[in-house]
Amino acid sequence: MFEIAPAFPAPVNEPILSYAPGTPERAALKDALAKLGGETPDIPHVIAGKELRDGSAFDVRAPHKKAKLLGRAHNGGEAMGRLAVDAALRAAADWAATPFEDRARIFLRMADLLAGPWRQTLNAATMLGQSKTAYQAEIDSACELIDFLRFNVHFASKLLEQPISPPGVRNVFELRPLEGFVLAVTPFNFTAIAANLPAAPALLGNVVVWKPSETQSLAAYHTMRLFQAAGLPDGVINVVYGEGAPVSDVALANPNLAGIHFTGSTRVFQQLWRTVGEKIASYKTFPRLVGETGGKDFVFAHPSANVDGLAAALVRGAFEYQGQKCSAASRAYVPVSIWPRVRERALALIETIRVGDVEDFRNFMGAVIDERAYNRLADRIDRAKHDPSCTVHGAKLSRDEGWFVGPTLVEVTDPNHGLMTDELFGPLLTVFVYPDARVDETLALCNATSPYALTGAIWSEDRKALAHAAKALHQAAGNLYFNDKPTGAVVGQQPFGGARGSGTNDKAGSAVNLLRWASPRTVKETFVPPTSIEYPFMQQQ
Ligand code: NAD
Repeated sequence: MFEIAPAFPAPVNEPILSYAPGTPERAALKDALAKLGGETPDIPHVIAGKELRDGSAFDVRAPHKKAKLLGRAHNGGEAMGRLAVDAALRAAADWAATPFEDRARIFLRMADLLAGPWRQTLNAATMLGQSKTAYQAEIDSACELIDFLRFNVHFASKLLEQPISPPGVRNVFELRPLEGFVLAVTPFNFTAIAANLPAAPALLGNVVVWKPSETQSLAAYHTMRLFQAAGLPDGVINVVYGEGAPVSDVALANPNLAGIHFTGSTRVFQQLWRTVGEKIASYKTFPRLVGETGGKDFVFAHPSANVDGLAAALVRGAFEYQGQKCSAASRAYVPVSIWPRVRERALALIETIRVGDVEDFRNFMGAVIDERAYNRLADRIDRAKHDPSCTVHGAKLSRDEGWFVGPTLVEVTDPNHGLMTDELFGPLLTVFVYPDARVDETLALCNATSPYALTGAIWSEDRKALAHAAKALHQAAGNLYFNDKPTGAVVGQQPFGGARGSGTNDKAGSAVNLLRWASPRTVKETFVPPTSIEYPFMQQQ
């Protein structure tokens, strides 16, 4: 009756393959790129295991080769959203009754399939559809996703720590899924996050409606195929493509909404939260709201910082995956004494960066995700070029073949300039140069300048200065790095998430996150129940 899972031992992180010339993984990836590049799937919603193609079709194109059609998906809208919610609710009882051990094995199998025969399919889909280089795809759609799947099983198996049972009593603590369904709404920029948001609640026995980002449809399609190949029962995860609002409208209007697992912009999460707030009396249970949202991630350099290390961290942290990581370095505070050397080194590194088609493995950067992102960045760069308080370096743009925005470094004299406060989500790093004597004032600025608090890095060779800055920036980042770039969190090593405008800080890929998808029940059994109601204190002397 009571399921107590045996613990699953801690896995090791999936090794990152190199894709160096001559390696088997490079050949396999090139084959997968050729195969997927030659297909144009008509991507179906998958609801109760059935493929449906309702709703107006939209093109899925390669951001770096916009003439290249990769497939078509459909705007599922309210109709598909409603079917998906119904299908999830129909699957709920069976899935909740499936022992944790059996659920876990499905996700472990998925991890092994991905580590083996599926690896290059998901990598190629992520490269083509989201314009990631081979390395950026490998650390996302292969390693991070494999780690999410394996580590979540390990963490979930340890959640069931049991309470004490004194003589005569047996106490059992069991984790039930939430009552209802979970809505997972996922971003374009990480295939691993897009898969983990529905997978983590499903591992805990929940049923899910998954709405991937329109611009991540190709990798989401292959991810859904992989869920099915691993043996996930029909109806446990139901995917609906297209615009978010019609699907979330239907989901949030349903009294069985039990939770939202969201990653994306702060604005959309606020909108979802607001709607849930307005409808709160209509739900059967208080929905769990978990959202990882925007960032304006900082690098704070102390005068003692290692110049070459700092410059490399700025360039990698700001420009890998075109700065489209929630954790990307986008504002830096550098003391005037070292800035000329840091700038020289950073600009020299930027000069070496090749931008272009990700199928050409010499390129360090691909294109930004779509025309909207390109226009937003082009506008901010253009305004900076005409702003006398800004000095712009780099900033080579091209929209002929694809949406290319080259690495851009802007020096500002106003620490509260919009480029220091707004999330721009592109390869744009803004630097404020501060007088060496003003470390404390600048730390206060860094703490207060942006509404976000996701990641940050402090650079110093002086341990006391590191500790001092970490204290001043205590609430400024959920993931803080010393002498490193602020990106590249690894599952099981740096649980990820931020607070303030950056989200609920429920640390994806950790026990903290998984607990949000469980509704614990405590069950007490008394072996020999008392047969009278009298207590000793009531007896006469
Ligand atoms: P986005 O907010 O535009 O879209 C995210 C998802 O929400 C998509 O599936 C989209 O279709 C859906 N959506 C959009 N409008 C909606 C609405 N009105 N109602 C319901 N759903 C709606 O974000 P994006 O551009 O895909 O991703 C970039 C953002 O994600 C950045 O802000 C980035 O910082 C953030 N992000 C955060 C983390 C983190 O861990 N904190 C990780 C990755 C990305």
